[in-house]
Amino acid sequence: MSHVFPRQIHAPPPVATGGAGCYLFDAAGRRYFDGSGGAAVSCLGHGDPEIVAAVQDQASRLAYAHTGFFTSEPAEALADLLIAHAPGDLDRVYFVSGGSEAVEAALKLARQYHVERGAPERRHVIARRQSYHGNTLGALAAGGNAWRRAPFEPMLPAMRHVAPCYAYAEKPPGETDEAYGQRLAQELEDEILALGPESVIAFVAEPVVGATLGAVPAVPGYFRRIREICDRYGVLLILDEVMCGMGRTGHLFACEAEGVAPDILCIAKGLGAGYQPVGAMLCSRAIYDTLAAGSGAFQHGHTYIGHPVACAAGLAVMRAVLERGLLAQVQARGALLRELLQDRFGAHPHIGDIRGRGLFLGLEFVADRETRTPFARAEAVAPRLKAAAFEAGLICYPMQGTRDGQSGDHVLLAPPFIMQPAEAEELADRLARAIGSVL
Ligand code: PLP
Repeated sequence: MSHVFPRQIHAPPPVATGGAGCYLFDAAGRRYFDGSGGAAVSCLGHGDPEIVAAVQDQASRLAYAHTGFFTSEPAEALADLLIAHAPGDLDRVYFVSGGSEAVEAALKLARQYHVERGAPERRHVIARRQSYHGNTLGALAAGGNAWRRAPFEPMLPAMRHVAPCYAYAEKPPGETDEAYGQRLAQELEDEILALGPESVIAFVAEPVVGATLGAVPAVPGYFRRIREICDRYGVLLILDEVMCGMGRTGHLFACEAEGVAPDILCIAKGLGAGYQPVGAMLCSRAIYDTLAAGSGAFQHGHTYIGHPVACAAGLAVMRAVLERGLLAQVQARGALLRELLQDRFGAHPHIGDIRGRGLFLGLEFVADRETRTPFARAEAVAPRLKAAAFEAGLICYPMQGTRDGQSGDHVLLAPPFIMQPAEAEELADRLARAIGSVL
């Protein structure tokens, strides 16, 4: 009997015992294609000897030194590398252990920045419905996924939500992408004006929506308009690239494709590629300087922030992504995988949309392709697909939901950047087998 508290109490998972490249193995000797990198984590695949060596080396030299007393070489080097490639005037890096922590830190820093610049009346955060920003209370409050929030609703700090940019499901026929994006941005401006611009701290969004919608990028121009609106009212723009950042979309940072830079950027998952739990919050020089000229300290912190071994893993992963030409590879393999999915599912009566960027792709399931009507909750495909895919030796990331009840019924794919063309075929074939068994 296991004493581990599993995610699904009535369906405890098999014991994973090993990994190599795009594959994972369990104790029963089964082999799985890791088609979603877990949850968009394992961007370099499993068992990468360079990353393993970097982790071992750091652990043997210095495993831990509390950041209340010390910084460390890997933290300094990783921060330098991130800032050298970061968009806009992002200038400082605050290392944490994962995505929720990065978002919590971002929310608190945004509030403290306004307090320290003499605007303590700024107290509202605006985010988007059908988004996911993590499971700690602040991050959960920013997220707009009704199912995840439901049991904790009375404990969540109040946050405001506007519409996500979800053209496939929510753009009326006849409206252009441009008009749709401008209309949604206007909804944000109206919300800021309704609250009173002097009371708004920040707007939070994922550049490409991951877990809740399934790799949905915004329409062109949406984020540029959002950036203008935030600037006009002194509202900070926090971009959550926990899932879509660190090369996943074929750009190191997903916001590069939008031509905007945030005031605060959150990353995690692909930063450590699963070799260590590590995330980060990057903030602009202006924010940092405000605290530097004010209290001199961010009123936040966890025991494991800036962990040397986690930062060493992040440094080795980021170097690998840049030095092995993996961004270009993500673009090429992403285009190939998309073609393969199009080929297998482009005419499927219950797959309405194949979308995404780079190696961050999603398929949306619909009861009716013509009308884009989602399946009723009881008939949703995603909950059945996870087990069917596992049976077909495939790890993918299906998410349940009906559109009116919050999100699309979809499956997310986020395979390792190192995936070879034949492996992309294998992924598409295994997915076809899994989908064939539930639809
Ligand atoms: N933000 C986004 C966009 C995510 O997709 C996730 C996790 O899926 C998180 C935050 C939370 O990250 P973590 O699970 O590492 O706390």
